[in-house]
Amino acid sequence: MIGMSVSDKILNMYFATHQTCNLMCRYCYIPEEIRKSPRTKDIQIIDALKLFIAKVEFDGFKIGTFCLHGSEPSLMNAETMCEIVESVNQHWTKNNVNGLNVSIQTNGIRFTKEYLNILKQNLENPKKLRISFSIDPPKKVHDYLRNNSYNKVIENMDEALKTGFPVGILCVVSNETFKYMEEFGKWLKFYNNMALTIGNPYKIKFKFATGIFALNENEMEKFSNFLLESDLLRFTQILTPGYCIQRGNECIWYEFDIFGNCYSCNKAYNNEGIFANWKKESFETIVNKRRNLYISEYQNSDCAECDYELLCNSGCSLDRHYEGKMRGKALECTLIRTVFSESEKNGKHIYDIINNKN
Ligand code: SF4
Ligand code: SF4
Repeated sequence: MIGMSVSDKILNMYFATHQTCNLMCRYCYIPEEIRKSPRTKDIQIIDALKLFIAKVEFDGFKIGTFCLHGSEPSLMNAETMCEIVESVNQHWTKNNVNGLNVSIQTNGIRFTKEYLNILKQNLENPKKLRISFSIDPPKKVHDYLRNNSYNKVIENMDEALKTGFPVGILCVVSNETFKYMEEFGKWLKFYNNMALTIGNPYKIKFKFATGIFALNENEMEKFSNFLLESDLLRFTQILTPGYCIQRGNECIWYEFDIFGNCYSCNKAYNNEGIFANWKKESFETIVNKRRNLYISEYQNSDCAECDYELLCNSGCSLDRHYEGKMRGKALECTLIRTVFSESEKNGKHIYDIINNKN
């Protein structure tokens, strides 16, 4: 067996606290019967986290990036969330891990002024919790896909910005967004201007919907040209260096839930996605299993000869095209090929685009 490198001993991860949710989005990845199951008790979450950290340390590993996830993690009380932030920070301090902060991916419904105030009072500094809101602009698209929650979520996000929490925005682009792309672009630019002026939101990104909400290839090509012409490419995950999806079959990320289940990430958050149990197996075994999890996923033979393979590696193993001539190519293949071939015609190199140089 090949020995583990230092970076293998760092676990960049989601910690999944719930399976239930307080919103019924049309494209949710959690099966409905699970979403409606009883809510996790806060004490179960805290106990599981303590056990998790003790096991990580006992096995000689460290937590790296730590993001609360798992349907809707803000279903816990604000005080419990502060306790989590505190425990993870203690682990980082004890293990000389510097420069990281706990984050949460949320639908935003529960981050009211009251909830944010409790967080602020109990955390030494609001910068200790990065809150990433899932928003699918413009309003009519968000309300259609995310159960009429736009006004509430924007109100809460604005409050979080005002209170000084670092705010992230993650959007999903679907065939609904395609109908309103100009408005989508204006919305992104509005928050990007805010980011440039006050440094918050600290991150704005979008990814693409899959299944019945996915753009077809014709729409993807038009959308790609729109992004190029409107200077919006920097907001795509696939063109942002460092995202797991660029590593193709060699992606490394983890989602650990409070029951002991290990998944590659939220995209595999169902029974078939469980590949190990952190309560029963060592982290060395888990890391080795994870490394090989998608290694043999089908990749289209065109990818090996593609000029953009270094950037894409056939994309996320769980979100590829599954049929026809595109089978085994990244969901974003048409976007990548369209924007790079168009830009190269204008003398712009692939590196300039991904490094956002004019
Ligand atoms: S399966 Fe896809 S989303 Fe999950 S870690 Fe791998 S590349 Fe990332
Ligand atoms: S851009 Fe398309 S063809 Fe090229 S490596 Fe990615 S998925 Fe394969």
